[in-house]
Amino acid sequence: MKWRTLAVGLVVGALSLTACGKEGSPTSGGTVVSQPAAANVQVTGSPTFDKIQQRGRVVIGVKNDQPGLGIVDPTTNTYSGFDVEIGRLVAAKLGQGADKIDYKVVQSAAREDAISRGDVDYYVGTYTINDNRKQRVGFAGPYFVAGQGLLVRKDETAITSKDTLKGKKVCSATGSTPLQRVQQQQLTEPNNIIAFQTYGQCVDQLMSNQVDAVTTDDSILKGYAAQSPDKLKVVGDTFSTEPYGVGLAHDDKALRDKVNDILQASFDDGTWQKIYDATLGKSGSSATPPKINRY
Ligand code: GLU
Repeated sequence: MKWRTLAVGLVVGALSLTACGKEGSPTSGGTVVSQPAAANVQVTGSPTFDKIQQRGRVVIGVKNDQPGLGIVDPTTNTYSGFDVEIGRLVAAKLGQGADKIDYKVVQSAAREDAISRGDVDYYVGTYTINDNRKQRVGFAGPYFVAGQGLLVRKDETAITSKDTLKGKKVCSATGSTPLQRVQQQQLTEPNNIIAFQTYGQCVDQLMSNQVDAVTTDDSILKGYAAQSPDKLKVVGDTFSTEPYGVGLAHDDKALRDKVNDILQASFDDGTWQKIYDATLGKSGSSATPPKINRY
């Protein structure tokens, strides 16, 4: 089964891991907390920053189907959500306004490759900081902490926690920490674990009765539940800690330090809170900034 999951991942991955887009309008309609581009920024010793300056534009890796976090309006090609706002804040502080941003969609399984190849300057998309990933990429942050949860159909009564998943079909995204956890903790049988490239695909499978639960971060699941409150609900307690980082090139310590400074300043001056309240916070859960973990 591992092989089947892997094979599906590889085939779909080869077809559609990335897509690229510029914002429709230079004023960038999706921005909830607008940031003026900083002038005369220097990030000494950062190869990524040098590249951004030469290009006069920044490429941010994002998700495009996670409501509240990273979502695109296909008619206007406008990105919005908490992660996207964090990405814009960082861009502005690096001297690149909203009209100088290119968004590149990178799914969970392709992040380390995209970052280490330099396809994106940095990545902001529900990206859990962990030691395994730190071998290939660097992380600034965390700027948020989520936890693994469960999304089920509204009429589901049998699934109430992670310990009620045996015999149930559970869907998650290839290359994600929640998928790995379901496998390692054997929360259901190997042939009942279904992997797709995106959580959106898992949600479609849930709606059409092909799977019984979708598992990933509660922050992501709440967004899908809020979109279809008549059909979906989040159940049970969270069962992991997922600290979200800004992914960047492994050896670019100068940029990592700079992004940590930017995040810390936004925690201290209330900008982070404004961004949260205008995006993820709309779902009703309150949050405060986490503690940055420098290395
Ligand atoms: N935060 C988890 C991860 O980085 C799940 C969400 C995602 O796949 O982006 O793997």
